[in-house]
Amino acid sequence: APTAESVTATSAPPPPPHFVIVPLPAQGHIIPMVDLAHLLAERGARSSVVVTPVNAARLRGVTDLAKRAKQPLEIVEVPFPPAVDGGLPPGIENVDQITDYGHFLPFFLALQELAGPLEAYLRAQATRPSCVISDWSNSWTADVARRVGIPRLFFHGPSCFYTLCDLNAAAHGLQPQADNDRYVVPGMPIPVEVTMDTRPGFFNAPGKEWEVLREAAMEAMRTADGAVVNTFMDLEDEFIACYEAALGKPVWTLGPFCLYNRDADAMASRGNKPDVAQSAVTAWLDTMDTNSVIYVNFGSLARKVPKYLYEVGHGLEDSGKPFVWVVKESEVTTPVVQEWLSALEARTARRGLVVRGWAPQLAILSHRAVGGFVTHCGWNSMLEAIAHGVPIVTWPHFSDQFLNERLAVDMLGVGVPIGVTMPVLLFGDEAMPVGRADVARVVSALMDGGEEADERRRKAKEYGEKAHRAMEKGGSSYESLTQLIDNFTLEGGKKL
Ligand code: UDP
Repeated sequence: APTAESVTATSAPPPPPHFVIVPLPAQGHIIPMVDLAHLLAERGARSSVVVTPVNAARLRGVTDLAKRAKQPLEIVEVPFPPAVDGGLPPGIENVDQITDYGHFLPFFLALQELAGPLEAYLRAQATRPSCVISDWSNSWTADVARRVGIPRLFFHGPSCFYTLCDLNAAAHGLQPQADNDRYVVPGMPIPVEVTMDTRPGFFNAPGKEWEVLREAAMEAMRTADGAVVNTFMDLEDEFIACYEAALGKPVWTLGPFCLYNRDADAMASRGNKPDVAQSAVTAWLDTMDTNSVIYVNFGSLARKVPKYLYEVGHGLEDSGKPFVWVVKESEVTTPVVQEWLSALEARTARRGLVVRGWAPQLAILSHRAVGGFVTHCGWNSMLEAIAHGVPIVTWPHFSDQFLNERLAVDMLGVGVPIGVTMPVLLFGDEAMPVGRADVARVVSALMDGGEEADERRRKAKEYGEKAHRAMEKGGSSYESLTQLIDNFTLEGGKKL
């Protein structure tokens, strides 16, 4: 018979679950995982985002926002570990600070040393946290969660289409095709062709240590309790189903995460502090016609060397279209580049806005005046465009971006490719130059109207509406989030 004590214990509502979120320190990973933390906290779950000091400093706006909204969201600061062999200059705590290829490996090796501080944090909690959600590449969290006895989900940044390609290629290898260097990704519901340069897989750099990192990440995905993906059913239900089947564990699709940010304050709190006031950009956009402006930004990492920066600038100028173009500080390398840029700004003053540094991307993409986006096809950028019904010019630069392009162009019909087939290195070397004529041509193809362009725009708008519905009560992502929270409301995620 139940004792008085057990009756009281069972009738009290269970405490809300506590999710501990461990992003990879890169803006393309921190931004969506912070959005995820907000989404969880908005629904009453406690969420703690574990980051190092440089990254915590960038998240002050997030803490303020959560406080104002009375959300149980906290930023947990842990010290950045000293590099094991001193191979990483002090102060580098985010991938966007790396300017030397030789620093990538020491960076990823240093991150593994965060296992100790993470474990200490988990053990210091009065009640055991319910679940760790860590970036797929943070394989070191697997042992920590196991030792402390907490279920672990991995967050995979890109689409399920990409992630399925990656999983299948890793499991079965690529199938070489008779003609030159093309390969088919096995086990896909539709034929997917890649080259050695555009094949799926992160940590693909040559060398034993990268191989070890990659294998550890694959193993951590195999041993996780499930996956969280920033996508939604109406976008790629077939690939979501195939991915879940191939993985053999639950896949929670909760996106587009960016739609958590409904007002100007929330949008401004994302990522770095904008180098130009968000209100100034939106005030400029307010003066422009609906769908008339092309927005150009290549994400948080890719940098163009001057001769390719010039091609983008002249291409935009030659297109004759109104534009917002984001140029990174690190791309304005010399006074000559600076002068060239100022001259271009003067020539295009009435129809062009050059944003230097970090742009308030979500506020721009959600503005009615923006009618197209030239993107490097980072998944966050692509999904942010899709969520706001903006068709895109696809200009992939590296890693998953080539397969994201296939999804946008071939499957969703919302993108027009600029036509690159080779990756570029992160710091601006271009294997396959894109000229100003290419830029002007694709911008016109996207913005000028005509049957194809109108169809692209119609599809983008339709996906945008579906994306919003997915995040509303009763929508697929909303309900998937309900299930995730319910699942971990029971002690230790027992239903898994
Ligand atoms: N972003 C931004 N302003 C910028 C550059 C990037 O807000 O000037 C945001 C963008 O909205 C997206 C993220 O940074 O959320 C970039 O992620 P993505 O996956 O698109 O590309 P990555 O930076 O990882 O290459």
